[in-house]
Amino acid sequence: MTKKLKILVVAGDGIGPEVTGEAVRVLQSVAEEGGHEFTFREEPIGGVAIQGQGSPLPKVTLEAALASDAVLLGAVGGNEFNALPPSERPEAGLLQLRNALGGFANLRPSFAWPGLSANSPLRPEVVEGADILFVRELLGGLYFGEPRQWDRAKGAAWNTMRYTRDEVVRVAKVAFELASKRGKKLTSVDKANVLEVSQLWRAAVTEVAKDYPDVAVEHQYVDAMAMHLMNRPRDFDVVLTENLFGDILSDEAAVITGSLGMLPSATIGGKVNLYEPVHGSAPDIAGKGIANPLGAILTAAMVLRYSAGLEDEAQAIEAAVKQVLAQGARTADLARGDKSVKVLSTPEVGAKVLEALGSRTGAAAR
Ligand code: NAD
Repeated sequence: MTKKLKILVVAGDGIGPEVTGEAVRVLQSVAEEGGHEFTFREEPIGGVAIQGQGSPLPKVTLEAALASDAVLLGAVGGNEFNALPPSERPEAGLLQLRNALGGFANLRPSFAWPGLSANSPLRPEVVEGADILFVRELLGGLYFGEPRQWDRAKGAAWNTMRYTRDEVVRVAKVAFELASKRGKKLTSVDKANVLEVSQLWRAAVTEVAKDYPDVAVEHQYVDAMAMHLMNRPRDFDVVLTENLFGDILSDEAAVITGSLGMLPSATIGGKVNLYEPVHGSAPDIAGKGIANPLGAILTAAMVLRYSAGLEDEAQAIEAAVKQVLAQGARTADLARGDKSVKVLSTPEVGAKVLEALGSRTGAAAR
């Protein structure tokens, strides 16, 4: 069936446009091959938007985002903006966009790509085969709870970790749905031995679990989970957790993949889904054509999976990435001085993925 998808591309700063260009080419190739109608509109965000329009999230970008079916973001930020107050910096544009789109479930896969285990500081026999999907609650908890204050006169500061039952139930449902389509195992992470908010979290997750009898549920305390992730990452499938714990644990689990440049993400559940590679604008390598585009390309696969229902096509992209890595063709971040690796540029790796995708689906490679 023909799918129609209006995609807003906000490539942003630094390596953002370099990697996003490759992701868009992959989406175009999938659309061409499958007869789907994907339209792409580009608008500025971040530093380029500050320079061009005087705001990190211009009105035209926000309106275009809200009128689209999916937003594909590159990265924002640059050293030249570091002196600005936080509310005027490029990153403020991204935070405003996330808030406006309203996604509450942040999905971050952590996958041990075959052939990349040497890039991970963990031993290959520990990481190989690991395939975890983090579902992090994104709009509640300590980052948003009131009251919050730094009272300098009193020499005290406080934040509030607050959740309502409904906030937990809605993100838990997303995680259980995903687990029922994957390895049918869900690990909910909390600190219920100490925190009341975690006791509510655990009770709400247990309630939702009743509707998913095919999914095995376990509860872990966050401190123990930090250790289990490094000792036995292969034992986990879907990991559901609140905002702060998810922020920390998903970064920790990123070591499984071996490079920041390999990590995609999707934020779903709001008005429009937001898709972005996990990495930033990487000013140290921007403009050199050496950025790893695979995180952005895997983000494109998530667009197909979660905004177009094109699961086969999403898997074809992931298989193409696997094939390219198996060929030993990679950007410099994945070579780590290994002389047997062919170090390629960003567009060369993008072209390899298109070629591999074409050989799987019959699509014409670029
Ligand atoms: P970063 O992710 O940009 O870079 C960290 C390191 O990883 C750098 O050495 C970089 O060269 C490398 N790296 C990152 N992505 C890579 C890729 N695709 N291929 C190869 N190497 C890659 O993080 P940072 O240096 O802490 O931040 C730089 C700027 O990006 C800052 O302004 C920061 O605020 C911003 N930032 C933005 C986002 C976002 O847009 N979502 C996320 C994180 C940081």
